[in-house]
Amino acid sequence: MEENCIFCKIARGDIPSATLYEDEEFRVILDLGPASKGHALILPKKHAANLFELPDETAAKALVVAKRIAGQLKGGLHADGLNLVQNNGAAAGQTVEHFHIHLIPRYQDDTVNVKWQPGELSDADKEEILKLFR
Ligand code: 5GP
Ligand code: ZN
Repeated sequence: MEENCIFCKIARGDIPSATLYEDEEFRVILDLGPASKGHALILPKKHAANLFELPDETAAKALVVAKRIAGQLKGGLHADGLNLVQNNGAAAGQTVEHFHIHLIPRYQDDTVNVKWQPGELSDADKEEILKLFR
């Protein structure tokens, strides 16, 4: 538990939240500023600032939890789709430095914006990136 981490306090139940699911390792809550009806957050109870700090085992379990809750939200709310969003670093839009996965139910013609302008993959970028993985 990190002092002053709001999601640590929520995950452990020190601060009340609208909880959809809880087990030993995770709490799933409704986002206080929802992008859409049913917008939820998966919080690990053990603090990790972001994906890079998250233990592999927690990362694996988080996606299983995401899959289950996503299905319940989509079915229960009759959503037409659902985005998983996971921000790391301020440049990527992370505002709370405790790892979390957003579950954002999507409805036909809603105004939620998780799109980007497609660019073009240059040969130079492609070579540089492929080299990193050789
Ligand atoms: P981020 O921008 O870090 O990916 O997402 C943080 C999310 O946490 C935002 O969607 C914001 O609305 C939500 N949030 C921030 N503080 C609280 C809080 O105290 N309670 C709940 N339920 N959600 C919060
Ligand atoms: Zn925390």
